[in-house]
Amino acid sequence: MDDYPRTVAEFEARFPTEEACRAYLCRLRWPDGFRCRCGEANAWLTARGLWQCTACGAQTSVTAGTVFQDTRKPLRLWLHAMWWVTSQKTGASALGLQRLLGLGSYETAWGWLHKLRRAMVRPGRDRLLGRVEVDESFVGGVGGARGRSTAKKALIVVAAEEVGPGIGRIRMRRIPDASADSLQPFVEEAIAPGNVVHTDGWHGYDRLKANGYRHRVTLLRGQHALASKRLPRVHRVVSLLKRWLLGTHQGAVTSAHLDYYLDEFTFRFNRRTSRHPGKLFFRLAQQALAVEPAPYTSLVKHVRRHRNR
Ligand SMILES: [Zn+2]
Repeated sequence: MDDYPRTVAEFEARFPTEEACRAYLCRLRWPDGFRCRCGEANAWLTARGLWQCTACGAQTSVTAGTVFQDTRKPLRLWLHAMWWVTSQKTGASALGLQRLLGLGSYETAWGWLHKLRRAMVRPGRDRLLGRVEVDESFVGGVGGARGRSTAKKALIVVAAEEVGPGIGRIRMRRIPDASADSLQPFVEEAIAPGNVVHTDGWHGYDRLKANGYRHRVTLLRGQHALASKRLPRVHRVVSLLKRWLLGTHQGAVTSAHLDYYLDEFTFRFNRRTSRHPGKLFFRLAQQALAVEPAPYTSLVKHVRRHRNR
C-alpha cells in the first residue's frame, strides 16, 4: 500500500518527468481510481493531464483543492521540495529550499514551506487520545535575527500523550498569553473530548471540565525544577524542541517562522519511529493532497501581523 522511494537514487529514477509525478499523485489521491465529483468513475486523461469525466464532462486536475492548486511550477519541483523537507534531519529553511530548487525569490520558497506546513498538521483531525499532559513553556531567541539575549521569547503550549512512561503523539502551538482564552481553544483542537488532560494547577485550565474533558491536576509547589518531574513528557518535548531549534537555526528563528517550525517539529516527532525517510515524504504528499489550498494572500497577512509585533 505505502508506495514511496527509499533513497535519493530511487527518487530520481522514479520521478524523471511531469507525467510520472502526476501519475504518482493521482494514485495517492485516488487509490481506488479516479472518481469525478459527480460520482462517475469513467474518465479519460487529456493531453494536458486532466481527468475528463465521461458522464458530466467536467475536467479535474490532480492538484485541484490541494496545496498544489494553481501552482505554475512543475510538480517535479513540488515533489523535490517535499523530499527535501522530509529527508532533512535538521529541518528545512526557506533559503535552503530556494537554493535547492533555484526558485526566483525567497518569498516563493517561504510560501511553499508554509503550504507544506498546512499539510504537516491537519487541524481538527486525529486529535490526541487517552491521558495527555499539557503545559506552557517559553522558547527563546524568537523575534530577533541574532543576539539571542535581546530577542523576545515566545510562549508556546504543548500537549503530549502519556504512553506508559513514554510519549505518544504531540501537538503544540504558539499562544499570545497563558489565559484560558488562549489555552482552551488549543486543548479543543488538539485533544478529543472525554479524554484525560493532565496539567498543573494554573487557572488557565479551569474550563476543561465544563468543556467535556476529564481533568487531572498535579499541583506544583516549590521550585520550578519540579515541573519537569510532574509533567515530564511535555518538558522532554520542549527540551528536544529547543535543542532542534538551536541546532538547526542557531536559535535565530524569526517570529514569522516559528509556527512553521513548531508544525515541522511536530510532524517529525510524531513519525519518529518511521524507519524510512521515504515514508515521511509519502505521508506529506498524501496529506498535501488532502487539505484545502492556502491562498498566498492569507499567508502574507500572517507574516505582516507577526512582523508588526
Ligand atoms: Zn463527472
